Amino acid sequence: MLVRAATVVTPHEVVDQGAVRTDGRLVVDVGHAWDLAPHPGEEVVDFPGCTITPGLVDMHCHGGGSTSFSGHDAADVVAAVRFHRGRGTTTVVASLVSAPADELASSVAMLAELAEEGLVAGTHFEGPFLSHARCGAQNPAALVPADTETMGRLLKLGRGTVRMVTIAPELPGALDVVRQVRDAGALPAVGHTDATFEQTIAAIDAGARVMTHLFNGMRPVHHREPGPVVAALERPEVCCELIADDNHLHPAIVHHVMRAAGPGRVALMSDAIAAAGMDDGDYELGGLAVVVRGGVARLAEGGSLAGSTITVSDAVRSVLTRSPAGLRETVLAATATPAALVAPRAGALAPDRRADLVVWDTGMHPVKVMVAGRWAPGAGEDEP
Ligand SMILES: [Zn+2]
Repeated sequence: MLVRAATVVTPHEVVDQGAVRTDGRLVVDVGHAWDLAPHPGEEVVDFPGCTITPGLVDMHCHGGGSTSFSGHDAADVVAAVRFHRGRGTTTVVASLVSAPADELASSVAMLAELAEEGLVAGTHFEGPFLSHARCGAQNPAALVPADTETMGRLLKLGRGTVRMVTIAPELPGALDVVRQVRDAGALPAVGHTDATFEQTIAAIDAGARVMTHLFNGMRPVHHREPGPVVAALERPEVCCELIADDNHLHPAIVHHVMRAAGPGRVALMSDAIAAAGMDDGDYELGGLAVVVRGGVARLAEGGSLAGSTITVSDAVRSVLTRSPAGLRETVLAATATPAALVAPRAGALAPDRRADLVVWDTGMHPVKVMVAGRWAPGAGEDEP
């Protein structure tokens, strides 16, 4: 199939009058439409005026469309994945907030099966080894001391599908867990942390490679105690997650981090909860009551921001309009950069990558989504 549009975003350039050729599963070729003539009998689909990017990669997402990944029901996971898929996210890592170890164990065992089937790109444990002082919307009752035994049990149940573990590195024993996660082939991430600059550097030296929603749930920057944010920006091997939902971060912070970190080091993720795509109302996260008003999710008690209600496509649109960054850099942060960490076959319009793509209208709203070479139902449409 040959898919053509006014603009096609590849990892290296923004192509005017571009085309993407797929073979039903993978991308075969990408370039200018005038260089890619249709083969005899080949299906050609034109999207005049539209932009084509790779399918979006959400490396940190708790759910959406009314269901979450934290339950024990595969149907809930399927529903959340379809919700995000209809909005352009073709790869999603299922994030689990802090919970008792037995609950995490049952969730990761179920998610491992779904990851093996290709539905999700694996599991992210956001906790339970996190700071009480920076717990945000994590249930404080579920936070426990860092413990390699619990971590080992969860990694084993994940059967190689655990992609990331967010840890507060200042906790006693936390660096042992960082090394354990790294040695298991997953990404240690720093987050929900009161770590100092030096403690964060020690975590990076031990193998931490991601900052979980940079700025949110961590010690802020101070000129005499630069904290985790500056430590991360100083180290080129670290990727910084950003929640670009217009609430968690000022647009100027998003702009500044994208410039300071440079291409390939920022991942736009959703941190979406079940309330994403739903009406304002009462929801739940990790056993805590959450109230959504005007699309902003906060704990009913204390008012801490409690995840987001966006999808990655909303983050892309927000960055392009409010934190103005270039189209290629913004798309990289929502595709190739997170894909390099959690799903190397996805995230780029390049030969031999999975044929996941999003067609966007002129207002940068997703209008059509392809997953592994097949058109997916749009938002509100039923899966065949
Ligand atoms: Zn989260």
